Amino acid sequence: MSDIIQLLPDSVANQIAAGEVVQRPASVVKELLENAIDAGATDITIKIVDAGRTLLQITDNGKGMSETDVRMAFERHATSKIRSAEDIFAITSMGFRGEALASIAAVAHVEVRTRQPENDCGTRLVIKASEVDLQEPVSCMVGTTFVVKNLFYNIPARRKFLKTNQVEQKFIFNEITQIALAHCNVAFSIFVDDSLFAKYSATNLKQRIGAIFGKKVEAQLLPIEGQTSIVAIHGFVGTPEVAKKHSYSQYLFVNKRFFRQKSFQAAIMRAYQNLIASKDFPPYFVFFDVNPAHIDVNIHPTKTEIKFVEEQNIVHLLEATVKHTLGRNNIVPSLDFADDTNYSDLFALPAQGEVNIPNFSVNPHYNPFENEKTEKHRGGAGLYSAPHKQSPQHWEQLFDLSAAQNPLPQQQTFRSALNTEGEKQVHETGTCMQIQKKYILTQGKTGLMLIDIKRAHSRILYERFMAQLQTAKNVAQRSIVPIRIDVTAQEMSVLLEIFPQLTELGFEIEHFGNNTFVIHGTPADIDTAQAEAILHQCVAEYEEGKSLNARERIVRALAQSAALFRNPTMQQSEMQLFLAQLFQCTEHNLSADGKRAIVILDYSEIFRKFNN
Ligand code: ADP
Ligand code: MG
Repeated sequence: MSDIIQLLPDSVANQIAAGEVVQRPASVVKELLENAIDAGATDITIKIVDAGRTLLQITDNGKGMSETDVRMAFERHATSKIRSAEDIFAITSMGFRGEALASIAAVAHVEVRTRQPENDCGTRLVIKASEVDLQEPVSCMVGTTFVVKNLFYNIPARRKFLKTNQVEQKFIFNEITQIALAHCNVAFSIFVDDSLFAKYSATNLKQRIGAIFGKKVEAQLLPIEGQTSIVAIHGFVGTPEVAKKHSYSQYLFVNKRFFRQKSFQAAIMRAYQNLIASKDFPPYFVFFDVNPAHIDVNIHPTKTEIKFVEEQNIVHLLEATVKHTLGRNNIVPSLDFADDTNYSDLFALPAQGEVNIPNFSVNPHYNPFENEKTEKHRGGAGLYSAPHKQSPQHWEQLFDLSAAQNPLPQQQTFRSALNTEGEKQVHETGTCMQIQKKYILTQGKTGLMLIDIKRAHSRILYERFMAQLQTAKNVAQRSIVPIRIDVTAQEMSVLLEIFPQLTELGFEIEHFGNNTFVIHGTPADIDTAQAEAILHQCVAEYEEGKSLNARERIVRALAQSAALFRNPTMQQSEMQLFLAQLFQCTEHNLSADGKRAIVILDYSEIFRKFNN
């Protein structure tokens, strides 16, 4: 038999290698940004069109490349950064594999313009299917511009595998954020579909964090610092006040390279124990400097997992350093914070011992049941101000869980319904009792009912918002003193995605440029004092509901977020009205996210317990 083994042509080999390096547009951005940083750039411009599918363009003012080097750069394993295998253990640059450009050129149309400072004229190179198609002199600025067009034009499967533009864009922002945080002395301008999306000027770390995550986070940053013979730690952690419902603002860097490491994350979270709710995430931006010989960055092609020789020691130092900072700033349990033991179960408590629970980010004056007298006049003629003349006379019927025979009018809210007429009616009915401010206890047909107020509230809002989207009725809205809201790049793309639905639901939000939005109006159901917090949480909740359809996701996220932030003391009439609204929901047994909202203790069960 004749020989059958052949070497793959370069273009095919590069395409295969590209599978590892270039998974999506964000990978291209990452590689090109790293190269620009390695080239000593202090000013980088990024252009993204169509979430990077159509165009990604990165311009830097770095040291540029010679005519020969720019051709060499596209060869696989061509790199100026290491010369021998030993060098791998002393890496100080971002890239080193010499694979990125070859890989990108294998799956996209690439053009480069580059000029070195000592030359008057630059060079332009066009690559097609991994081959140099054209090289010519060009006049351009010192530095390098990479233009990457039609990514995956030759791998339709890959192109199809890409997510929506919003999602791909989010991956891109994520990469940019990581690099912009690690290199705050470098200026970045980001253009999305031809308009300026964000501009970060060269600055210090604190202000860079502020530019990306907003002034509110910046104002709540505490510096951390720690050092041993093996590692130096510096950076910032956020006060519990700015803890988020998501982990988008948690960043670790080693030698200016972003990485993930569960044990490090856990160490920081331990330092916050008892200071924040167990599902909250404090922002942190922690930088480790270690001798490159003590880490191995080569274990993963995308290089976000890093092996540390001294992992355990570093973990201990990290936890101690963060604790020290929090302690020094008096951010420890039992100091400075109002205590509210009723909410103790919302927080991660140690198994033993009494701890005074710090109480953050709630507005103690907030009472969602407050009757806003002016509301009727402010709201439009939509869902929120509809009359409710046919309120049931027999409240017990409502508690028959098939309450459909005598439903409350569909269009009624808590607050708007709580006028005198409503109050009179509910006073005539059976008794409810509020337990630990969190539950309502009342008699049902077959047993005692315990209703989780927050969960039930999320259900009421869910069905109301849903009805609103489905009927597309005009929505009652309150104009408010504009509230400025700063979001992260990730939140930004979610917000832009759900913008139309938020508008339909009664939000009036304006994109104010960069990462700033301004809220001018909210749905009547949303407590304006909490509007900003609700939006942040809504975005986080939305992210979690990936399996649902878009409408379902947004409505659920908003309902979950707007459901009472803190359970207030409720009057008899308020509890009854609340239950009336709950039982008029189709799925009154479940919260908006499908958790049990009602527990029934069967009378027969109670009877049995006393009958022995
Ligand atoms: P690596 O970064 O791993 O060396 P790349 O394929 O990303 O491999 O780049 C190959 C080489 O091209 C780099 O080593 C560098 O010499 C050169 N290069 C790439 N991008 C730039 C840039 N923006 N400015 C100057 N030189 C660059
Ligand atoms: Mg590189």
